[in-house]
Amino acid sequence: MKTDPFWTDQFPHPADLPVMANLPDQVDVAIIGSGYTGLNAARVLAKAGATVAVLERHTIGWGASSRNGGMATPGIKRPIKQIYAQYGRDYAHQFWQASLDAIDLIDQLVREEGIDCDWQRNGHIALAAKASHFESQNQSRQWLKDEFGHETTLVAPGDLHSEIGSNVYFGGLADNYSGGLQPAKYVFGLARAAAKHGVHLCENADVQRIERLPTRFLVHTSNGSGTQSVNAKEVLVATNGYTDRLVPALKPKIFPVGSYIIVTEPLPPDLQQKLSPKGRMFYTTQNFLHYFRLTPDGRMLWGGRNNLSVDLDPQQSARRLRASMTHAFPELADTPLTHTWTGQLGLTFDLMPHIGRVEGIHYAFGYCGHGLSIATYVGTEVGKLLAGQISRSPFQEISEDVRFFYRNRPWFLPFAAQYYRFKDRVG
Ligand SMILES: Cc1cc2nc3c(=O)[nH]c(=O)nc-3n(C[C@H](O)[C@H](O)[C@H](O)COP(=O)(O)OP(=O)(O)OC[C@H]3O[C@@H](n4cnc5c(N)ncnc54)[C@H](O)[C@@H]3O)c2cc1C
Repeated sequence: MKTDPFWTDQFPHPADLPVMANLPDQVDVAIIGSGYTGLNAARVLAKAGATVAVLERHTIGWGASSRNGGMATPGIKRPIKQIYAQYGRDYAHQFWQASLDAIDLIDQLVREEGIDCDWQRNGHIALAAKASHFESQNQSRQWLKDEFGHETTLVAPGDLHSEIGSNVYFGGLADNYSGGLQPAKYVFGLARAAAKHGVHLCENADVQRIERLPTRFLVHTSNGSGTQSVNAKEVLVATNGYTDRLVPALKPKIFPVGSYIIVTEPLPPDLQQKLSPKGRMFYTTQNFLHYFRLTPDGRMLWGGRNNLSVDLDPQQSARRLRASMTHAFPELADTPLTHTWTGQLGLTFDLMPHIGRVEGIHYAFGYCGHGLSIATYVGTEVGKLLAGQISRSPFQEISEDVRFFYRNRPWFLPFAAQYYRFKDRVG
């Protein structure tokens, strides 16, 4: 079983991706991180006439943007009812609409930039892990319709076989707005689009220090054997789950959580049809949820958070994930797994993405495992803000939540994991 992501194994870093051997001397904007956030911001800025360098520690798209489940679903991680209760009706509508626009934005990008990434809007279904969750789903369906005019379909337990070939769920809530794609194809497509608009893509450019000059910044990078710097008017940190202490003031705002995925070998067409008759994206309703789908080439992809840590052994993760997968789909008990891998999510304490600025340095992050569409959108927003094309974003207006007990190391995660497992058992 391979321990690198299936997506990049299937579609490796294109040899002809135009990456620069050297950093440019000077740019308008230096962007740190080459995932959906950084590349979308870069694309918008370059189209607006700015000179932009994307600085990536590893290779383009190396982070979560080539490792994820490829599922784009409405909403952001924080439940929309909680957003409504905390920020009020007006903001709830802005955030909800942004989450729908984010999915439409993928449509637009794929079309405008000609990105071939197997994007299909087959919808998703949230699967009730308990009977009580199904009752809540019924209330949610009504509320989404009354408050936002958003249509979803409640699927009773007896009808679930039209959606999924499994007997372990208690019904579900289906939403046709969602879509799925091949993440590596998408991120490399975005990189190619950004380069076409003039963005300098710089790999092996590990940003180690940001030096403040009177009116600009000097961004120092290392490639292991030497150092290079780029002089930039503005700097954007787009490192989400890989945010470290490069800008110490950012560290307390976000912490990394591991997410883990396995895929099987391709399934026979009749089994694919039985397990996922509509080609939906699936996730379950617990705190420790599972997310799964068929890949475009007909494998079962099955993901989950395991114990929240970022360093679980991939073979051990595969054993755990296989056990939960075969609980849902006993037919897959003997199906060989081909890949097991992990990547880091960026969690904020309020489960909200944020756009902000500290010590003159811009940042955009905090998608909490929901970043395929939202990072695409927030990256685009921050690009437009920096280009002066828009003057505000709701993601920069809400306050941020930091906790006195977290400055550097997320020591509290094992305790949080136990707490949420307990809640899943009793809730
Ligand atoms: C296993 C997994 C499954 C997921 N599934 C889904 C899903 O199905 N749907 C969904 O919506 N979301 C999902 N997500 C979340 C989604 O992938 C992320 O929210 C999104 O990719 C974040 O994009 P980003 O550009 O902000 O960060 P990333 O793509 O993580 O990019 C950050 C980059 O910053 C680079 N970097 C960090 N520090 C430095 C430095 N000092 N110098 C230079 N470069 C640096 C890193 O190397 C990295 O490449 C999943 C995530 C994981 C890990």
